[in-house]
Formats: sequence, structure tokens, C-alpha cells
Amino acid sequence: MKLSHRITHLTPSGSDGWDIFYKARAMVAAGQDVIELTIGEHDIRTHPDILAAMHTSAIGGHTGYAAIPGTPALRKAVADRIQTRTGVPTAADNILITPGGQAALLATHTAVLNPDDTALFIDPYYATYPGTIRAAGGIPQAIQASPATGFQPRATDIARQAVNAKSLLINTPNNPTGAVYSRNTLQDIADTCIKHDLWLISDEVYDTQLWDGSPHISPRSLPDMADRTLVIGSMSKSHAMTGSRIGWVCGPEHVIQHLGNLATHATYGVPGYIQDAATFALDQGTPLETEISAPFARRRAITETLLARQNVVKASPISGAMYVMLDVRATGLSGFDFADALLNTHHIATMPGESFGTSAAGHIRVAMTIKDATYETALQTLLDFATIKAA
Ligand code: PMP
Repeated sequence: MKLSHRITHLTPSGSDGWDIFYKARAMVAAGQDVIELTIGEHDIRTHPDILAAMHTSAIGGHTGYAAIPGTPALRKAVADRIQTRTGVPTAADNILITPGGQAALLATHTAVLNPDDTALFIDPYYATYPGTIRAAGGIPQAIQASPATGFQPRATDIARQAVNAKSLLINTPNNPTGAVYSRNTLQDIADTCIKHDLWLISDEVYDTQLWDGSPHISPRSLPDMADRTLVIGSMSKSHAMTGSRIGWVCGPEHVIQHLGNLATHATYGVPGYIQDAATFALDQGTPLETEISAPFARRRAITETLLARQNVVKASPISGAMYVMLDVRATGLSGFDFADALLNTHHIATMPGESFGTSAAGHIRVAMTIKDATYETALQTLLDFATIKAA
């Protein structure tokens, strides 16, 4: 019995880029101490008050099927948040609640792609992007963003590949690079989408993690973009709710109606008690979001301090998200070889830049997701290691 091409070709290269991560996990399982700077997950757990709201809802009986596009209360809370942050009129009917941002990525690509349509995305990219596009029946096509531009994609590169494409997926603040796209970059992207009639899928799951003092800009708020932009949101990063699997799509009402129909056939909705907990969390407003993002801001400052004391490892601007993309090319090693050697020698696990495409070759991604003191020591060890390798 043969499986479908679609499922067997989801990750065609065989390696999913997580080799170092798996190796580190195997070392941990074998009882070794490993400092993991690999995974994009907070070192804190979901806030007890959010869990209490979840418990109250479940005990109160919200354990049956919930409304499929999302509860009216959560759809409205998400819409209000987006309207407040972007100024774009947004109602509950513009929102579909999904089991996490990942489900929203698959749903939006399913909504805009016919079989074998070309779907663009930016390299370096979040590991699931090409597979998600394939799962939706599309053909993923990467646009390179270079370290020389701080991993901001260039309009000319997008325009060149936009011909015949159906959609463009962007992510700002960015995983894995920590880049935040400038207003100019976003306007160039918007102009290209309008000129070439592309859907823009804007992954904004890190929208509470910006470190330069500049506000998050959603491309949906740029002129004439609201009708062609589908925004991906999630409570995973903003509220440390990764395991609750709760996110959304924000887009034109007619698209959300179709996506509701897809949800009926794909997920049949999201648990009501999780949605109630998410509504509670959003009702807490920005103070809770700031509390949850604060550790990354602190570790970003630690990173800047340690980097300034040496000149072997260079960092791309650390503007947002919980990651630092370090350029280790001065060591003469690939990102993979550097990460592998660092793991073997010092039991520190990082992600090779090559795990995220081709543009971040010779880099490693460091997740700032461990306690400050351990983070500082690990980063210093990493920098010393690079200095020895470069000598
Ligand atoms: N987009 C990006 C860029 C991510 O980094 C992640 C998670 N690491 C997701 C989407 C999906 O997150 P979730 O499904 O937990 O909302």
C-alpha cells in the first residue's frame, strides 16, 4: 500500500535540520548535563492565573464542543487587541481561532493555494514553513535574505520571484534571525504583493518581543493591504502558552468564513476551556505580555555586552524574538560543524544556521531561553570557544 506523495514528500531532504537538537536530547537522556540553547520555548511556565482561569472554565462545564470558529468572547478579544495595536478596523468576524499558529499557517496556505501553486517564503525560515506549504499542496520557493542586509529581504529579490507565485509568507519579528522588518522593507513587500497580486501571509507570533523600542508593524495596516493579508497570531510566545495550542488567523471576513468551514473538517474547533483561559490572558492586557517578554530583553542586553568584548563572533541586529543569530564564519567552520563541536566539547547545544535554509550558513542560532546566569556563562563559553577556533 502506497502513501500519498503529499505526505511522503513533506520533508524530502530526509533531515529536518534538528540533528544537533536530537543529539543533545540523546545526551540528556544518557544522563549528561547539556545546556540547551535550541528550542523556542520560555523557561517559565504558563502563568498560574491563566491556569486558574482554565480550571474554572473546565470545572464550570466548558468541556464540550466549543464554537468552531472560536468562542465569541475570544474572537472579540483577539480582534480588539489587533485593532488597538494596528489601528485597522477589526471585528470578531475577521478572526478564526486555531489550535496554535502552526495550524493557522497550514489553514491559510490551504485557503490560498491550488495544487502546485508557488508559495514564496523567506530564507532563513522557521523550520516548518516548506513542509507546511507542501502539506497544503503548494510548491515552496525560498527567497534569500542575506546577513549583509541584517536578513531583511530585498524588494528586487521578492519581485523577481513573485511572477507566477500565489502567496508570500513573511515573519517579523523573525525566527530564526531576530530581525524585525523595517517599515521600508514592509512597504516594499506590500508594493510587490499588490503589483503581482500575491496573498501576504504574515506570521506575527513574536509581536510582543521587540527590543529596539520600535512598535510592531503589521503589514495588514499598510495601505490597501487588509484585503490581501492573512495574519497568523498565537498565544504561545506572547503568553507562554505553547502547550495550550491556541492561536488565530486574522483576515477578510469572507476568507475567515471559508477557514471556518475548513476548521469544521480539520480540527472541529479548539477546547472551550483553553479559549476561556486565552480570553482571560488577553484581558490582562500589555502588563502581562511585558512581564513574559522581559527575560528575553534582559538576555538580549547580556548578549550585547558579551559580544562587545570580542571581535570573532558577529551578531545580526538582535531586534526581536527570543533568538540571536551569530555569525561564526571567522572560525572557518560551518554552522553545523561549529554547533556539533560546541556540543561535543562543552555540552552546549545550539541550532546550526543551515537548519533554517541556505542563507544563514556559517551561523548558529542561540535561543535565549534559559536562566540569565546560566545563559551568560554558556554564551561566554561559546564566544571563548569561537575565539580559540578562529586563532
Ligand atoms: N511561527 C513561528 C515563526 C514560530 O517560531 C512558531 C513556533 N516556534 C510558530 C509559528 C508556531 O507556534 P505555535 O503553533 O506554537 O503557535
